[in-house]
Amino acid sequence: MIDPWGSSNVDYEKIVEQFGIKPFKELLSDINDPHWLMRRGIIFGQRDYGRIVEALHKKQDFAVVSGMMPSGKMHIGHKMIVDQILWYEKNGADIYIPIADMESYSARGVDFEASKELAIKEYITNYIALGLDFKKKNIQVYLQSKNIMVNDLAYILSKKVTFNEMKAIYGFHGSTNMAHMQAPLIQVADILHPQMDELGGPKPTVVPVGPDQDPHIRLTRDIADRFKNQYRFVVPSSTYHRFITGLTGGKMSSSQPKTAIFLSDTPEEAEKKVKTAKTGGRESLKEQKEKGGDPSNCVIYEMLLYHLIESDSALEEIMENCKNGTIMCGECKTQSAELMKEFFVKFSSRRDKALKEAEKVLDSAQSC
Ligand code: SF4
Repeated sequence: MIDPWGSSNVDYEKIVEQFGIKPFKELLSDINDPHWLMRRGIIFGQRDYGRIVEALHKKQDFAVVSGMMPSGKMHIGHKMIVDQILWYEKNGADIYIPIADMESYSARGVDFEASKELAIKEYITNYIALGLDFKKKNIQVYLQSKNIMVNDLAYILSKKVTFNEMKAIYGFHGSTNMAHMQAPLIQVADILHPQMDELGGPKPTVVPVGPDQDPHIRLTRDIADRFKNQYRFVVPSSTYHRFITGLTGGKMSSSQPKTAIFLSDTPEEAEKKVKTAKTGGRESLKEQKEKGGDPSNCVIYEMLLYHLIESDSALEEIMENCKNGTIMCGECKTQSAELMKEFFVKFSSRRDKALKEAEKVLDSAQSC
């Protein structure tokens, strides 16, 4: 069982094998100008992504649903989601961004006002600073608790879901509170509501997630199928991305500040943090020159791979130089820290301007 609310140390291959997720690379050659997260295998798995590839080719309507749960500060790993949304938006998708304040309340105990505040100051601000333009008509952001269509749909859909099913998927038990049990059904409605007639009717929909969210995807796909006669739902597709490793080598987590570079960090803080990251270097310089480093086990290399270097050939060169012992970790760290600082210098100034806009975004969303 994968626990979407737990902390996970993920074995990606096992997930692909056990839960029937298909490798993403099978479809890569069919995608025109794929995002680097796709090219580099960071997005490693998919369900029914062929439908999205077809919609991209035929320039048909399709939707992307990517929720945010306001429960802590955004770190650099969360940027990956925004990068994907931006790619889809550029490629013609309608974007739906539910703010999961109901889930945050039921699963984390965050009250609704605090969720809204966090969503504005942290999430929406960062999304804008990363390049998302909420003024565009094809981008919808909303608080779950304020979206009547989503709540009504969740209620209707829950008619064909039993407690035993929820127990089998999520491990719910007799003392699980009812709000927590409802939260996944709200998410199901988040994912399916872009297919309601009021929003253009049935269409392929993709949900980019980390593998820990797969229980929600499986539940949504099953429910879409159960209601296909009533709503003509197209069963949603999904993609799965790897998690970025934390600075100390374990999971990057907002609740453990030593593991994370936060998007609200100053350029100097971000630079300093990169310099503390665990590397794949050897015990001594002599050994590293002889045997080379291990980029596959290096947080610095991951930062370059996920975020800091756009050119695949430049990245390959760093990997080769690392493996053959031409470049040492000290120099590599310094260069990477500099790149991170450059990113944060630009990003932080955009972030300052984005806050004002973020406040308006959610206010206008309340009227939908
Ligand atoms: Fe990582 Fe760079 Fe050291 Fe290689 S040289 S292990 S990529 S820090």
